[in-house]
Amino acid sequence: SRAWHLRSRPVGEPKPDDFALVESELPELKDGRVLVRNHYFSVDPYMRGRMSDAESYVAPFELDKPMQGHAVGEVVASNSPDLQVGDYVVHMLGWRDYASLDARHAFKVDPDAVPLSAYLGVLGMPGLTAYAGLFRVASFKEGDSVFVSGAAGAVGSQVGQMAKLKGASRVIGSAGSAEKVRLLTEEYGFDAAFNYKDGPVGRQLREAAPDGVDVYFDNVGADHLEAAIGSLNLGGRIAVCGMIAVYNATEPVPGPRNLARLIQTRGRIEGFLVGDHEDLRPAFTEEASAWIRSGDLKYRETVTEGIENGVDAFLGMLLRGDNIGKAVVKV
Ligand code: NDP
Repeated sequence: SRAWHLRSRPVGEPKPDDFALVESELPELKDGRVLVRNHYFSVDPYMRGRMSDAESYVAPFELDKPMQGHAVGEVVASNSPDLQVGDYVVHMLGWRDYASLDARHAFKVDPDAVPLSAYLGVLGMPGLTAYAGLFRVASFKEGDSVFVSGAAGAVGSQVGQMAKLKGASRVIGSAGSAEKVRLLTEEYGFDAAFNYKDGPVGRQLREAAPDGVDVYFDNVGADHLEAAIGSLNLGGRIAVCGMIAVYNATEPVPGPRNLARLIQTRGRIEGFLVGDHEDLRPAFTEEASAWIRSGDLKYRETVTEGIENGVDAFLGMLLRGDNIGKAVVKV
């Protein structure tokens, strides 16, 4: 079987040479374990953090070992009474074609309800992130005006649509290409969108949200965060989900220069991790599944074919914004 290993810890932007696709023999299947043939694995921005050895909320990837992450696949051998050959499961041993794991770490999914890859995106971790960040952390309420960055990505595209579905007065998104901006307003129902590469984010946001924003869902950080604080309304809330603009920084990045605006606006900034909001998963799954069935929640995926292109898919997502919606690799 084949798996992507981390060979060296990237400094700044990761390079293809930091990774290697390594072949090895599958271990014998011990009691309680299953062998899963992965159909898709996920490439996510947070994985950049695991490539560094800085202390964080999740352990760094080990050098010269298979990397990890969400994957979805089919049980092809089972030594556990809990899973049968032919079951489909989501688990954390991505970045490889075959995964041998304890059946307790595999979660059964229905392959007929939605395409399998959706369990890595719209119905998976990114979807729950959007739901928990918007409705719990940012305390979204009907009538709020919402700004989301990374708006054409896996998390961002759901934040904007969920806000609309729950009665936002205005939803504004930013993304990195004209095609993405068009998608937001023409397909996802955003009221306004802009390309952050077209000019200063602060000015573009003021034009797109002349009445300010009540909620900012931050996927990007840096100038986006400063712009959102600049446009924040009284009692505004900022949920810090990610700061992809600084993930490759080699030096600490200066913070927003206008934090003092939080005083006059009584604004709140709060970071969060999706893992702390597992209790919302049943409600999220039920609501999102219904929205998908009714066509109210749209989603795209960028599927890269072939395990050998896994690192390309990751780098394209992280460095070039190649993906629209969830970036996944079809093994
Ligand atoms: P996306 O699908 O949004 O993919 C990443 C996107 O980021 C790219 O497509 C690119 O789009 C954009 N991007 C890359 N570099 C920059 C930059 N310098 N400035 C602005 N945009 C950039 O990824 P996800 O939806 O999976 O994740 C979105 C964010 O949510 C990330 O910050 C991630 O770390 C965070 N996250 C946090 C979780 C939590 O528990 N807190 C859980 C899951 C995700 P573009 O073309 O628009 O530049």
